[in-house]
Amino acid sequence: MRRRRGTPGPLPAALALLLAATAGCAAPSGAGHVSSRAGGTATAVAPAPPPPVVGHVATDDPVVFLTYDDGAERDPRFIDLVRERRLPVSMFLTDSVMGPGYGHFARLRAVGANLQNHTLDHPALPGLPLAAQRAQICGQQRKLAARFGVRPRLFRPPYGRYDTTTLRAAAECGIAAVVLWRVTLEPDGHLTYAHGPHRLRPGDIVSVPSGEAPPLTLAERTTRLLAELDERGLKVGRLEDHVGVTPSPSGA
Ligand SMILES: [Zn+2]
Repeated sequence: MRRRRGTPGPLPAALALLLAATAGCAAPSGAGHVSSRAGGTATAVAPAPPPPVVGHVATDDPVVFLTYDDGAERDPRFIDLVRERRLPVSMFLTDSVMGPGYGHFARLRAVGANLQNHTLDHPALPGLPLAAQRAQICGQQRKLAARFGVRPRLFRPPYGRYDTTTLRAAAECGIAAVVLWRVTLEPDGHLTYAHGPHRLRPGDIVSVPSGEAPPLTLAERTTRLLAELDERGLKVGRLEDHVGVTPSPSGA
């Protein structure tokens, strides 16, 4: 694509269309049909390949990944903990849940947390039409971009449930990986395991669901988990560095 220097004149129509298309989420369906007559530079818009679904990270590094869901709990002590322990945690956020607490998550982000996509409204996605799934996923991409200036690359479907339409929608919304989990940090601070051995292993992804009036605060639960990680010689890794980092064939 040519770039003109110094002359911020009106964009040629074809270029403007192309820019609209590469804006991905923001473009309504149909924007993928880009005419490539102008200038002769044919850019076929191939459908984005479905993102990988990751439930465990293959790594020999002694790391596990902490992922917090929904955004219902806004524990100020948790912000202190993330800052003091330099925890690169991932927050999978649902707009209708986190909505009143944008400031809390902005502060979390400022101390090292990364913000990821967990839909606008937390519906069960399987069986919903493509447009509805796109609205949930792309819609949350737009919200997070508008509120925080971030463009998440990771997506967690509500309840860990998805279908092939979910993967297509996620790809079209610019998602690089769909993230599930093997381990859950329960509201009382105990760990449960969906499958496999009942102990933490390198590469494990730990989900921390939002609790309603949980017996332990988010900071307390996380502190308990960190003590267990220390015992096992494990550290908290940055999920974004391990999943969805393979080069995207679309180059987008
Ligand atoms: Zn959730």
